[in-house]
Amino acid sequence: MNLGAIFVGLALVILVLPVVFDPFRRPSPARRSAARTPAADSHERALLALRDLEFDYQTDKITEADYRAIRAELLAQAARAIEARKKEEEILEEIIRKRRQRKKEAAICPQCEAALQESDRFCPSCGHARINPCPACGHENRTEDRFCSHCGQQLEQDGNNGEKHAH
Ligand SMILES: [Zn+2]
Ligand SMILES: [Zn+2]
Repeated sequence: MNLGAIFVGLALVILVLPVVFDPFRRPSPARRSAARTPAADSHERALLALRDLEFDYQTDKITEADYRAIRAELLAQAARAIEARKKEEEILEEIIRKRRQRKKEAAICPQCEAALQESDRFCPSCGHARINPCPACGHENRTEDRFCSHCGQQLEQDGNNGEKHAH
């Protein structure tokens, strides 16, 4: 334990103390920026409103009848937001799953099934060409493309990409 470490420790305590002992400090909602979605916002607003309501009731600013009515409405709102949030998450997961699937399909050599980078022009494992220049315009299509993505010209295929085209 050297003097420097003690000073750092003291500095930390001095920095943290006012935060811990400030009774009026409220956590600012702007700081919690993780996963911003409409449903998440709605859920957070409902919870903040509930907390304010609780405070108003504790300090006798509103009647018990009002408190109960507003509280029930806010709880219902929070519940609806949780449902909406679940749906949002399901939709997001579906999008991510599809994207992964697509990436997987694009990143496998049709000849030896080695993993390929999107930028590879040839398979690093077996040398299979991934580019097939268009006879009409010279655009470099991928070997699995049947038509030129630039001019629509039908492309000749290697013929040896197996069971996929065996009719
Ligand atoms: Zn290969
Ligand atoms: Zn072309």
